[in-house]
Amino acid sequence: MHERGMLIVLSGPSGVGKGTVRQAMLADDFRDFQYSVSMTTRKPRPGEQDGVDYYFRTKEQFEAEIAAGQMLEYAKYVDNYYGTPVKYVNKTLDSGRDVLLEIEVKGAMQVREKCPDGVFIFLTPPDLMELKHRLIGRGTDSADVINKRVKQAAEEIKMMENYDYAVVNDEVPKACKRIERIIESEHLRVPRV
Ligand code: 5GP
Repeated sequence: MHERGMLIVLSGPSGVGKGTVRQAMLADDFRDFQYSVSMTTRKPRPGEQDGVDYYFRTKEQFEAEIAAGQMLEYAKYVDNYYGTPVKYVNKTLDSGRDVLLEIEVKGAMQVREKCPDGVFIFLTPPDLMELKHRLIGRGTDSADVINKRVKQAAEEIKMMENYDYAVVNDEVPKACKRIERIIESEHLRVPRV
């Protein structure tokens, strides 16, 4: 019998760099974990691939998955659905491998309810203005979407106290190292009955 894998939830405001940190962690030689590809109703951005970046689905398809109980969590974020298909997560944890979710905060709180043994990490921007500049610099969102996201981010930062760890994303390699140390330490915990 192997030990069940650990569920690692990386969350925080959009634009804080969760995606970049996650990609850097997958690219570098960090501890082996599996990334759970999310499902969304948002349109693909240039270069994004179905099944790699997201499972891109229609609203109707997404709602059918919810109704069928196929989502571990889901949330509406800036007019689109985002969610985690439950099957892949359970199968991978059962096989003894760690799973990383990269999700927004409402979804993370749903996971916290369902999987209290998970490790919940909140990625924070050094400050909110920098977040706004990063969103503009990304050049992929309209002014209206940027303002909605910044407003939402201010709310999300208040959510930090619901997490086990807070990691400042000042520099991506540093943030990755901090997360890697958290994961390593969590694996060294003495098992309790
Ligand atoms: P974006 O549109 O920039 O790719 O993502 C918008 C937000 O949705 C980000 O904060 C991202 O982390 C979050 N997100 C991505 N996948 C999921 C998911 O499966 N569930 C939830 N709740 N949020 C997600």
